[in-house]
Amino acid sequence: ETIGATLARTVEAHGDRTALIDAAARREWRYSEFHRDVRAVAAGLLRLGVSVGDRVGLWSPNRFEWVLTQYAAAEIGAVLVNLNPAYRQNEIEYALQQSGTSVVLAAESFKDSAYASMLEQARPRCPELREVVLFGSPGWDALCADASAEELERVSAIAASLSPDDPINIQYTSGTTGFPKGATLSHRNIGNNGYLVGELLNYTADDRICLPVPFYHCFGMVMGNLAATSHGAAMVIPAPAFDPRATLDAVAEYRCTSLYGVPTMFIAELDLLDDGLDIDLSSLRTGIMAGSPCPEYVMRQVVDRMHMREVSICYGMTETSPVSTQTRVDDPLELRVTTVGRVGPHLEIKIVDPGTGETSGRGETGELCTRGYSVMTGYWNEPEKTAEAIDADGWMHTGDLADMDDNGYVRITGRIKDMVIRGGENIYPREIEEFLYTHPDILDAQVIGVPDEKYGEELMAWVRLRDTAAEFTADDLREFATGKIARHKIPRYVHVVEEFPMTVTGKVRKVAMRDEAASILE
Ligand code: ATP
Ligand code: MG
Repeated sequence: ETIGATLARTVEAHGDRTALIDAAARREWRYSEFHRDVRAVAAGLLRLGVSVGDRVGLWSPNRFEWVLTQYAAAEIGAVLVNLNPAYRQNEIEYALQQSGTSVVLAAESFKDSAYASMLEQARPRCPELREVVLFGSPGWDALCADASAEELERVSAIAASLSPDDPINIQYTSGTTGFPKGATLSHRNIGNNGYLVGELLNYTADDRICLPVPFYHCFGMVMGNLAATSHGAAMVIPAPAFDPRATLDAVAEYRCTSLYGVPTMFIAELDLLDDGLDIDLSSLRTGIMAGSPCPEYVMRQVVDRMHMREVSICYGMTETSPVSTQTRVDDPLELRVTTVGRVGPHLEIKIVDPGTGETSGRGETGELCTRGYSVMTGYWNEPEKTAEAIDADGWMHTGDLADMDDNGYVRITGRIKDMVIRGGENIYPREIEEFLYTHPDILDAQVIGVPDEKYGEELMAWVRLRDTAAEFTADDLREFATGKIARHKIPRYVHVVEEFPMTVTGKVRKVAMRDEAASILE
């Protein structure tokens, strides 16, 4: 069914339950109120001349208007174009042109970014851009104003005419490995994925999900919002941008049962607990860690110290709506903290030799491929890139390296692009990162390959220390690692930093680290 149909069923069953809480705005919606406001915004979009298939851009950090716009666009079959809050002039122009967006809804500004003026500057180069509406402006108030009965009937008629296979979303990938690509997703893709992720977490209308992860990305909008609204659970927005203290405060204040994050978010939250923050997290039951490799050490701490006994790891990518594998609540703890679980319902996965395309044996490392309802229809207007990613049999080639055990549990060993070849030996940085986490002084660690005349590539560890005033050298590392890991896996270089270069989705940008490393080593 369509996203709108799912929401209508939830409103019918759970109209009185909390749908949305925006902690910063101090506002709350029950499902009945949420539906009314969503339909009002949908009618407002129709008044702006938006028709089925038109692209509507959404450029804002997490706030309630984001969620209202998401569901309003789905209601009238507009294709929502999620715009990364970190975009600057060139990137916003690229995304608006590439997607042919005609209407943009945006925050006026965010941090040091003046969205309103960047959009004005973009106009001459984005001929299809007709309307810009800023949240909180008179234009936005007009959009949300009470709709007439006739307008609401038109909204209902359009909603009823939509097919689950219609595209409703263009999501640009995180840009971790290069330029973002616009994955085109349908109701069927993301509606099912959100619902099934929520099923495996046993969501009900009693759950309240704390969402510090960005909505502009699938993690927030599908695994968060669509999982919540398909189960009558509440979406809780702790703050517009990730803030560890605001996140834990929102969990305590609203008695959240579920908390999401990429690993670095959980690391920052655990760091506050280490510093002695006294906060009641006893309402937490479950949650999701995903987006990049989830260190076992961090997972164990989340289970033990954050009350998240049923926390799950999900693995996926924007192109697959996003989740392909997930740990189940009743999986043995050991597997829940060291694997990304098993394939999701109604999906297939296989692991192939990236060179030959042959399916790998159990336990062997290869490229993970996935097939099923979750695979995007393609990259928007990029048929060549689509053909590279999805083969003739419908398999999405993820570019991730993985292995699978006899029971179907999958381990992600890294990205093909991040694999280091040192003296002809394949090295998976992930394995060394896991090892570095066992050092008591290391808070966070990343390993990259750097060019080397003798070996082709050498390893460099970037580390963040618990005590930022402390020192940590390559000799310290060698001493710690000798006898514990093979010699060729001990990083030759150590670079101590306070922060890693990150995407807004909270992923470490190894591309940027490799660039910087090259200049450090010169
Ligand atoms: P781009 O494709 O633009 O380079 P990206 O791949 O980071 O960026 P996303 O679609 O946001 O964009 O991220 C998907 C990727 O994140 C996966 O391909 C995988 O490499 C990584 N990932 C997601 N979840 C996990 C996980 N649980 N464990 C390890 N890696 C993960
Ligand atoms: Mg990718």
